[in-house]
Amino acid sequence: MRRRDWLAMNAALPLAARAAQAGSKDLVISSANGLKACAKAMEVLKAGGDTLEAAVAGVTLVEDDPNDTSVGYGGLPNEEGVVELDASVMHGPTRRAGSVAAVRNIKNVARLAKLVMEQTDHIMLVGEGALRFARAWGIEETNLLTERARMAWIAWKQSLRGREGNNNWTDGLDSPRMLKAAERLRRQFPQAGEELIAWALDVAANPPTGTINLLALNARGEISGVTTTSGLAWKIPGRVGDSPIIGAGLYVDQDVGAAGSTGRGEENIRIAGAHTIVEMMRQGMAPREACLEALKRIARNFRNDAEVLNRFDINFYALRKDGAYGAASLWDGRQRRGYRADIQFAVNDGTGPSRLEKCANLLERKRP
Ligand code: ASP
Repeated sequence: MRRRDWLAMNAALPLAARAAQAGSKDLVISSANGLKACAKAMEVLKAGGDTLEAAVAGVTLVEDDPNDTSVGYGGLPNEEGVVELDASVMHGPTRRAGSVAAVRNIKNVARLAKLVMEQTDHIMLVGEGALRFARAWGIEETNLLTERARMAWIAWKQSLRGREGNNNWTDGLDSPRMLKAAERLRRQFPQAGEELIAWALDVAANPPTGTINLLALNARGEISGVTTTSGLAWKIPGRVGDSPIIGAGLYVDQDVGAAGSTGRGEENIRIAGAHTIVEMMRQGMAPREACLEALKRIARNFRNDAEVLNRFDINFYALRKDGAYGAASLWDGRQRRGYRADIQFAVNDGTGPSRLEKCANLLERKRP
């Protein structure tokens, strides 16, 4: 482009978008489960690595971690006890994207989404097709269901017992006595401690969501993002959330910045959250305010009915090209196994270890 044309185009941009073109620094933000992931991504950036390579390297740690039951290996399964993963990536500098959905047996789906971006003429592969594509590239298959996730799934199956009298995953009519749920789990999983059993019963009763979204910016102002998840626990097989949907669970525009989401994906898809946030930043809104504005649209979809909104959580994260960042959640705290205040997000600015910062919030939960 000739300099004169570039200047004319630049003058047409809103003020904030022009400001966002100013100099940047290495910066990584993610959902709260990404402290180590942000540190890893920062390490790759500091070594001169590409922003998407950094983002994927970061979330791979979480996909590999059996103790994160919302992402990758160890994720909670669908209603048939099978783990199905979703992921998406966007690379700012080349403006490319890739995604995979409802993938079984492949642990590192963020890397698989990147492979779809780099090695196909498509953007999204799902289910069996995505698995065959992974096989074609020699990616190893793994049983993603850990014992802890299987125990929670069994607890969920059994929690349906008795209702309408039609659940066969129950004590038989001929059993000597009916066992309480916790007692039954203790017998079936003798190695599990009390804490694990309490957790399994809790997630059985309140199907959790959980994901990692990570956004990475380098000192040249290049920006990329990734979102990877096992989605909603006990979902119908084939259910796809917002994480692999470009524009919902993730959006990156090299001219403006990036945004992503965790939480109840169904609500995010209905407002195309990440794209909405990036567009609002393009119009001059600060990252945090843009996240809050997206949350307002979600609340509006329920006519701001706090009782219905109280049934779920959703969070947005945004990183502008100039290094401004912010995050916001629908509620100020979660209402699971006791009220927990402060929904947070992870930040690594390259000056030390990753830290957690508090998300802004749209609504306040009544504390019990
Ligand atoms: N957004 C993910 C989904 O709906 C889950 C989550 O982030 O909790 O699949």
